[in-house]
Amino acid sequence: MKTKAAVRITITRRRKFYFQIPLICIHCRVCGREVETLSASQAAEALEVHPGVLSRMIADGVIHVISTVSGSLRICRNSLFS
Ligand SMILES: [Zn+2]
Repeated sequence: MKTKAAVRITITRRRKFYFQIPLICIHCRVCGREVETLSASQAAEALEVHPGVLSRMIADGVIHVISTVSGSLRICRNSLFS
């Protein structure tokens, strides 16, 4: 049986990130309210991490993911910068 190794990701640098396109607002179940969301590529760019690192953060529950009716995934902006 394979076990997952624990991964701790610490973001040590923060900068203001200005979005060029309008953000989509969707209800986040974790936050319990409507929040601004980003695509996965926008979230990776905002955090300045490789998309693979973002995938690990999603798998570890570090950031909130919201599935849309169309089947795409949106990232809760609050979970990126909290
Ligand atoms: Zn959230």
